[in-house]
Amino acid sequence: MSSLQQNLIRIRAHLQEAARRLGREEIRLVAVTKNVPASLVGEAIALGVQSFGENRLQDALPKLAVFPQADWHFIGRLQTNKVRDVIGRFSLIQSLDRWELAAALQYQAEKKGVAVKALVQVNVAGEEQKGGLPPEELTDFLTAVADLSCLQVVGLMTVPPYEDDPEKIRPVFREMCRLFRTCRVPGVRMQVLSMGMSNDYLTAVEEGATLVRIGSAIFGART
Ligand SMILES: *Cc1c(COP(=O)(O)O)cnc(C)c1O
Repeated sequence: MSSLQQNLIRIRAHLQEAARRLGREEIRLVAVTKNVPASLVGEAIALGVQSFGENRLQDALPKLAVFPQADWHFIGRLQTNKVRDVIGRFSLIQSLDRWELAAALQYQAEKKGVAVKALVQVNVAGEEQKGGLPPEELTDFLTAVADLSCLQVVGLMTVPPYEDDPEKIRPVFREMCRLFRTCRVPGVRMQVLSMGMSNDYLTAVEEGATLVRIGSAIFGART
């Protein structure tokens, strides 16, 4: 059995066990393929992985060309001049973090006559170097985005600070879940809470994640 297969079996078992223990619906797994060659993406698809996440468009496009049938999510900082190439290729933009980007997504989606789904990336820990909307701006942002006919926000996403001990991040996940449950804006239905990566995904699930983004625990450490 390949290490990829062993890793997937282990992670799926962990996610299923956690969902059962917590009385929750199935947790969605997005396999993060940054720095992962297309051959391994193919192997993951053969092992039943359906959704993949990429954080850089130029690295993602060649893999999307090889595997257009897979479900691709954009999870990195998105420049507005790249928006045109994202529309229609990615089923979910997980990193909507500013009005300028929302407006660009609306403009290009309307031009192509398609709808775009997105998660609002929130910077709960207030880290300066990281992307994400400050939590106090969330309600106003969602209210403004609700008026954009081709852009549909379906949830929230966060990338917390890295900690070796996932317990240190639990309060961040808990605060995200509180925001997810309490921010009510007409026209916006919150369905997806994307949080948790290789080192902390079980903690994230315990605190309410409905979707986890896992890279190195599936494909091995990035070089
Ligand atoms: C790289 C990355 C991940 C996956 O990180 P791992 O620690 O390798 O699981 C998840 N989300 C985002 C936004 C990333 O850039």
